Amino acid sequence: MSDELTTSAASYLSLLEAGELLKRVESLEALLESCTVCPLDCGNNRLNDELARCYSGRLPIVSSYTAHFGEEPPLTGTRGAGNIFFGNCNLRCVYCQNYQISQAHKEQIKNQVTHERLAEMMLELQARGCHNINFVSPTHFAPQMARAILIAAERGLHLPIVYNTNAYDSVEVLRLLDGIVDVYLPDLKYAEDEAGFLYSKVRSYREVSRAALTEMYRQMGDKQVYDEHGLLKRGLVIRLLVLPNDLGGLRDSLGWIRDELSPRVAVSLMAQYYPTNVAGTNPRYALLSRRISESEWMRAISALEEFEMEEGWIQEYDGAPFYYRPNFNDAETPFHDVRDFQ
Ligand code: SF4
Repeated sequence: MSDELTTSAASYLSLLEAGELLKRVESLEALLESCTVCPLDCGNNRLNDELARCYSGRLPIVSSYTAHFGEEPPLTGTRGAGNIFFGNCNLRCVYCQNYQISQAHKEQIKNQVTHERLAEMMLELQARGCHNINFVSPTHFAPQMARAILIAAERGLHLPIVYNTNAYDSVEVLRLLDGIVDVYLPDLKYAEDEAGFLYSKVRSYREVSRAALTEMYRQMGDKQVYDEHGLLKRGLVIRLLVLPNDLGGLRDSLGWIRDELSPRVAVSLMAQYYPTNVAGTNPRYALLSRRISESEWMRAISALEEFEMEEGWIQEYDGAPFYYRPNFNDAETPFHDVRDFQ
């Protein structure tokens, strides 16, 4: 491996060089035969395109791919994150902002691609100058993602891989992704199982998501690694989308992150919730039928200070762009507008 690669290389290049990446891919693909790719453990044979909860078979489904400028500043940078949006999902969030992608499997099946095509998309995004490859909703396609990374790495991919997930992930799969993923970006949705069941239609969200984040933390620790331009190369960033009526249990989640992981884990506090999908129309979900109020948002920011979280980003109240503060507790540290980010 060249010196250039050893100093700034994405971690999967080391696995490729050691001959380990193919073994990981094959171990991940073996989970498709009686599917345990996510904690729902459906047991269907996806290698034969038997479909179950996530309506996803052997091949990856890509809804779209593009340079994206709405992620956290060290992922967006100046040339965008290289987003690849997978179709379908293992959750059924009643407020999903991408429900046309995640919950419309009859349409999404038309977007099935080969592993080779997925690898080409990654290389296209790299050629466009994107700073990373940001897989959005990768959980149900983790084996396909890994196979495509292998193909793309053999053809010159070197960007960091971002795993942008709903946190309902299998610990076994995450262990196999150790060294393949460079940045974990889980969205920790709820602190209570009841909310996970009512609003995302899965059981044991609290336990499953916390086990997943514990594994991500085991791999990454609480230190984020940036390059000389301030771009995130490696680490764990936990997203916390503030829901109306505190349905996400923000304080419970922050207390758990601080006490069981570390107050130095980066958190990204998000204000962008709006009622969509059935959250705005079905009376069963009336508590989700509005945006958050300014006072709810201010309480969420106060909670970051109360729990003495030290690293991360806070979204502007009206949603975008992100404002960037490297250290929540450092009053001398100015906020930087994402447009000024270098
Ligand atoms: S990835 Fe899909 S088929 Fe496999 S266990 Fe999860 S929901 Fe079921």
